[in-house]
Amino acid sequence: MSFADLGLSDKVLQAVTAAGYSEPTPIQAQAIPHVLARRDVLGIAQTGTGKTAAFTLPMLTLLENGRARARMPRTLILEPTRELAAQVVENFDRYGVNHKLNVALIIGGVSFAEQDAKLMRGTDVLIATPGRLLDHFERGKLLLTGVELLVIDEADRMLDMGFIPDIERIVKMVPFTRQTLFFSATMPPEIERLADMFLHTPQRIEVARPSSTASTIEQKLVASGSEGHEKRELLRRLIRGEADLNNGIIFCNRKRDVALLQKSLASHGFNVAALHGDMDQRARTLALDGFRSGEVPLLVASDVAARGLDIPAVSHVFNFDVPHHPEDYVHRIGRTGRAGRAGHAFTLVTRSDERFVTAIESLIGQPIPWAEGDLGVLPEPSAAPAEREDAPTRTRHRGKSGQTLRRRSGGETGRDAARSEPRARKGGRRDSPERGPSPAVETEAVQPPARAKDTAPARAKEPAPQRMEPRREERRPASRRRGDEDDGETPIGLGSHVPAFLLRPAVIKSPK
Ligand code: AMP
Repeated sequence: MSFADLGLSDKVLQAVTAAGYSEPTPIQAQAIPHVLARRDVLGIAQTGTGKTAAFTLPMLTLLENGRARARMPRTLILEPTRELAAQVVENFDRYGVNHKLNVALIIGGVSFAEQDAKLMRGTDVLIATPGRLLDHFERGKLLLTGVELLVIDEADRMLDMGFIPDIERIVKMVPFTRQTLFFSATMPPEIERLADMFLHTPQRIEVARPSSTASTIEQKLVASGSEGHEKRELLRRLIRGEADLNNGIIFCNRKRDVALLQKSLASHGFNVAALHGDMDQRARTLALDGFRSGEVPLLVASDVAARGLDIPAVSHVFNFDVPHHPEDYVHRIGRTGRAGRAGHAFTLVTRSDERFVTAIESLIGQPIPWAEGDLGVLPEPSAAPAEREDAPTRTRHRGKSGQTLRRRSGGETGRDAARSEPRARKGGRRDSPERGPSPAVETEAVQPPARAKDTAPARAKEPAPQRMEPRREERRPASRRRGDEDDGETPIGLGSHVPAFLLRPAVIKSPK
């Protein structure tokens, strides 16, 4: 099967050739003809499968006919995070080089004015995170009645981030006659329900089971004491011991640990950046760009910030914390071993993580080997001597390529480190998923262990609350949900929002 067999336009085919792609990936081969035939598509595919091109290429072909009108986008793509939204824009730039289409990116954390101007000019493709899109809509700057094609991408991540009520609102504003493309890496029951609701007799395309991990990834568990300094010391030892480490992502469950670990590694001489949802957009972009370009070979990240990012060649993934949701493990280690390359994934496991490891092993259908003996090698918790963290080292740590892993003193990374500290943000309408009432509850990846099937083994050992109802954040009104990726400006009072009860006509009965 070649791209030419799929029905794409000549302009798109030229761009695909220029991108260097010789043949379509399975999701592209299966989805593109249906999208071109104006059918709804339910794509069950992870990032890394080429799914972005599976919708951008046929969209470009379809958009060649017709023109955009002011404030009325012709197509709408919803993404859960700013980074993913920006990545889709990059795809349109790359594959749309031969087109003259207006592509607008509507995400939180940047000023409204420029986005307003773009919307006014008329938009062929609007790529947005849900909260900022609703902000524009509420300000009367946007009409969704001209949307012919709607893409809901990373639906399961939208669910995790509490965006579903917003998505439901947005879908109601888009014409019923639209074409809908719906992508999700996993299909938990809530996502099946949404797919049923949003799609009309869709083509269901599933390219890789969400539980599968690439065979090119060497996975290892490493027993660790539960104290932070013990884990950090172990991590440093692992990093230094990996001769073929070119670059690596280190995942933490909590954003505050991302900042802490990045600082700790930097103080030990590693060249490392941080990426988590509480960083401002500029710092996030800088951190990602530095990592992508290879200038900063180590990135400490949270799940929310790193999910779906397309970073082609990552040699190592370190799970500083075992993810509490087993599918996050698949996503995390999927950052390495991409496109047939070799990858290494180390997971630091403490005694309290055992049930999460069991859940992961049951999801991926295979045991993960221990690197240096299992948890039995650890001293009993009470007998463990209280070690002090070792002093910062002065040695340079090198990867296989001779690339320095050591932090450049006074460079961008150092300044980023300072910027990437968790910061208290002013209470905006769109609350952060990583923000909670106090730092003690500012978890982001400590997700409800409630994908019933997946966590069954875990519950066998320790009962976890079953989710019989929608998640807390789903039931929360959009104005109080926890989506950090999507902050608008801080409104004064109710902002531009007028509660419905104030708009109801008042009936005043005259006294008889
Ligand atoms: P995605 O799953 O959309 O994040 O894409 C993952 C990576 O695959 C991106 O770097 C794309 O540039 C690349 N890619 C997409 N389609 C193809 C293709 N047909 N052949 C080779 N690489 C591709």
